[in-house]
Amino acid sequence: MQDARNFYINGRWVAPISGTDMPVIDPSTEEPFATIALGGKADTDAAVAAARAAFAGWRKSSRAERLDLMQAILDVYMKRSDEMGAAISQEMGAPIDMAKIQQSGAGSGHIKAFIRALEGFEFERELRPDTPNDRIIYEPIGVCALITPWNWPMNQIALKVMPALATGCTMVLKPSEQSPMSGILFTEILHEAGVPAGVYNMLNGDGPGVGSQLSSHRDIDMVSFTGSTRAGRAITIAGAETVKRVSLELGGKGANLVFADADPKAVKQGIIRCFNNTGQSCNAPTRMLVERARYDEAVQQAKAAAEATSVNPASQEGRHIGPLVSEMQFNKVQDLIQKGIDEGARLVAGGVGRPDGLNRGYFVRPTVFADCTNDMTIMREEIFGPVLSMMPFDTEEQAIAIANDTDYGLTNYIQTSDGEKARRVARELRSGMVDINGQPRSSGAPFGGMKQSGNGREGGVWGLEEFCEVRAIGGWPAE
Ligand code: NAD
Repeated sequence: MQDARNFYINGRWVAPISGTDMPVIDPSTEEPFATIALGGKADTDAAVAAARAAFAGWRKSSRAERLDLMQAILDVYMKRSDEMGAAISQEMGAPIDMAKIQQSGAGSGHIKAFIRALEGFEFERELRPDTPNDRIIYEPIGVCALITPWNWPMNQIALKVMPALATGCTMVLKPSEQSPMSGILFTEILHEAGVPAGVYNMLNGDGPGVGSQLSSHRDIDMVSFTGSTRAGRAITIAGAETVKRVSLELGGKGANLVFADADPKAVKQGIIRCFNNTGQSCNAPTRMLVERARYDEAVQQAKAAAEATSVNPASQEGRHIGPLVSEMQFNKVQDLIQKGIDEGARLVAGGVGRPDGLNRGYFVRPTVFADCTNDMTIMREEIFGPVLSMMPFDTEEQAIAIANDTDYGLTNYIQTSDGEKARRVARELRSGMVDINGQPRSSGAPFGGMKQSGNGREGGVWGLEEFCEVRAIGGWPAE
């Protein structure tokens, strides 16, 4: 059993002051393999105080110093990238090859992207060419609390820590208590890369403890949060008392609009995308809306693709999906599958229970529902498991209306070979992001949602601006 109780405060690993122990469970085996501490108020206060004390110095660091540090972080990260993949795989169940390539790779990808973004970022700008005596200055907002989820742990941590460092903020990271090992390894990487004491601090804890202590703390200027809409609401309320900036990246219920003229492989690719990471992605395309002329064929294709999806322990190499992260998520997904059946959706693949041959571990059956209606629970709630809900549509307007009839607005997907239609529909979808024909957005594009999917934008220039205050100065003497 690994002892992973220590926190990283003011440049040193320290024992918790008021922590309680929590086991870290391998979701493939249901066995504990490490112990962390959940911090208490005294630990939170110590971490925040270290970050506050370091802010005066770090806010004045030069772009060159920050770039050197970020490059050093990248170098150490690359050296330990496979180790990172293995940690993520064991703590949250991502299949080992996928964890090394996609999960760990997301972290290094973001570090590289933020180095590029910082190189070109203008911290001081003119307002307009005709206003030489106005100056716009982008300043670090201050001490930031970074609260992250377990589903793409290094993706989320890198998307917050790197822009905070790049803009001159200091910070306290609280990784998810479900996936703490990758956060600890990331902290070792930052320490080895030489992050100055106090600039970056890390402690483990749960939502009601460290999470809410950080979000209501007087000495925290900003909370950058990724996680559930439920916790996002609680953090917003907790932060309101001290008027913090609260940047939220929350849940999603992405629609994938498959028009009759879509590529023949569009349905299969939609399933693969929906089931990737065992369906535990905020931007998963979980509602597949298919033009009626293609619908019956699409249901058969989805059934075949789901039945061809293998489910195995995370440690197994190759292409497959792993378990869900925890018993709680397992029970939640089972309940939602049962609800789909009870509310009258047609079950065409999967269903409740574990896949054959897997009696231990939080494994669920790749599941497809057809003939859904948009009022069903499985069309409205984020399931966070390998479950696809399908529904036919007749017209473009109807498809757009169904896609937009949701509390969420993170990512929607369009499959069509008609360029004009793709542009038209993309403009109408109420989501922060749209992917057309499976083409990913380029690195440096902003990631974020509308409506109850949140208000933050992470990545690239937008990701840096999130961590800045914008100041306006009049009467700026000509240089
Ligand atoms: P969660 O909200 O339960 O937990 C996320 C983090 O918040 C954890 O660190 C947790 O300890 C902390 N937390 C929980 N309650 C809190 C509170 N009241 N105050 C302060 N902190 C609190 O979410 P999760 O189950 O870890 O992650 C899954 C969710 O994250 C899904 O809803 C998913 O859609 C969302 N997500 C969104 C994005 C995005 O960018 N939009 C990306 C990944 C995941």
